[in-house]
Amino acid sequence: MADTLLKFTFHNAPVRGEVVRMDAAWQAMTAHHGYPVPVMRLLGEMTAAAALLASNIKFKGALILQIHGDGPVSLLVVECQPDLRLRATAKLRDDAVIGDDARLRDLVNVSGQGRCAITLDPTDRLPGQQPYQGIVSLQGDSMAQVLENYMRQSEQLESKLWLVADARCCAGVLLQKLPGDGGRAAGAQLDEDAWERTTTLAATLTTQELVALEAETVTRRLFWQEQLDPYRPLKPRFECRCSRDRIGRMLLSLGKDEVDSIVAEQGRVEVTCDFCNARQQFDAVDVAQLFRTGSSAQAGSAAAPH
Ligand SMILES: [Zn+2]
Repeated sequence: MADTLLKFTFHNAPVRGEVVRMDAAWQAMTAHHGYPVPVMRLLGEMTAAAALLASNIKFKGALILQIHGDGPVSLLVVECQPDLRLRATAKLRDDAVIGDDARLRDLVNVSGQGRCAITLDPTDRLPGQQPYQGIVSLQGDSMAQVLENYMRQSEQLESKLWLVADARCCAGVLLQKLPGDGGRAAGAQLDEDAWERTTTLAATLTTQELVALEAETVTRRLFWQEQLDPYRPLKPRFECRCSRDRIGRMLLSLGKDEVDSIVAEQGRVEVTCDFCNARQQFDAVDVAQLFRTGSSAQAGSAAAPH
């Protein structure tokens, strides 16, 4: 199935919608990580949500959706670039015990201390400028509810989300009520019932259908009686932004003494990316060159996938 994000408004109605589905991108994002099924499910729901939220806002920059958990999962991060390049990662505590039917609360909000952070990091952020960040508690039984609460607070727009994920795919639907006359052509009658009607229609969708169907089929099946004004379909995809150069800069910031001592102890510095599992190695020669030239551009071996 195609990795697709469809975006549309309802004709002459103050409602807009999005449907997303990722198969290949989601599988590439989670390959080699071996996450337990419930972690996969939550991270997948966050991934679908990040794509939906990022394409729903007018903002040029990365949207980062994070959960800091107080349970067996300490951290989940999904990052979505404006062109829908996504990457995701989850960190489990060493002693994590996760039942097959563990839900949001069991994973990240055991004693009510879990938090969800939504960060907007502008592409052309000025030095010293802080990214915008909103933090919400994990109220609700699902990621969809947590984010509906967030959108109600931050955008003051009524929003409904449906999210689903398994090992094979992640998918979601977002409907948002636009303020005032939003979506109405000049002179046209405003469709006042549209919000009630479209959310009721979307609620008929089962999680099995959302997992099984292409984004286009979901849209058609739900809203075949509605007149949609579609945007060009978008293509979410997996891409990690890590690189040997970035790791090099990180080592430079640690300082030569620190890095030399790691090399003396372990024979080399090895850094594995949390998102894509790419492994970068710097041996004594690489490190010497790094600190001599201030760049890792020429040094050593290429990234080795784990
Ligand atoms: Zn990476």
